[in-house]
Amino acid sequence: ALTAAGVRDWLQRFATAVDTHASDLTDLDRPIGDSDHGVNLQRGMHAVLAALDAAEPATPGAALVKAGSTLVSTVGGASGPLLGTLLRRTGKALGDAESADGPAFAAALRAGLDAVVALGGAHVGDATLVDALAPAVEALEAGGSAQEAADAAARGAASTDELVARKGRASYLGERGIGQRDPGAASIALLIAALTEDAS
Ligand code: ADP
Ligand code: MG
Ligand code: MG
Repeated sequence: ALTAAGVRDWLQRFATAVDTHASDLTDLDRPIGDSDHGVNLQRGMHAVLAALDAAEPATPGAALVKAGSTLVSTVGGASGPLLGTLLRRTGKALGDAESADGPAFAAALRAGLDAVVALGGAHVGDATLVDALAPAVEALEAGGSAQEAADAAARGAASTDELVARKGRASYLGERGIGQRDPGAASIALLIAALTEDAS
């Protein structure tokens, strides 16, 4: 079951993965965006870890709300409000429970996804981070393991290669964006992979 410490460990693993892959994420954002996605997430996740250390939230819900609020306030790009909303709404949905089991976490992440869709207006197939997030949520709702969710997110991120982006900066390119992976989908794949213990 996911506890406050578990949330911190998850986000620590994600932050490490973002550090490792920052230049790859920025490279993905170069042809179809403004080359800042890796740097945006690095800045945001360093702030998240500092905020969690300072606040020491007692529940997984409070930890995710703190993390999400920190992302919204420290990342200027589209990804800050979107990823921040994902974590904040997921946390709100967990309420003040001491821990969350698999079904509770899946339901909360679904609430987070719904909030991202409400905020950004992107649906599956629009070549955004939703393409990685939605299949991961579906895998968890079906009772799948974190590894199965991570595999689903990775497949979803790969699916953006052949899509025309309909939201965000990449949408300005139209058909010329075909052949490019969406950077936000790639980073969501890292976030979900970080749910598994051996992620890096
Ligand atoms: P910016 O585009 O402002 O520079 P980032 O480069 O940090 O921000 O993040 C870009 C990512 O944000 C995209 O790859 C995409 O996944 C995601 N994104 C942008 N707009 C939307 C939207 N309306 N809905 C969902 N995701 C979006
Ligand atoms: Mg960008
Ligand atoms: Mg930008």
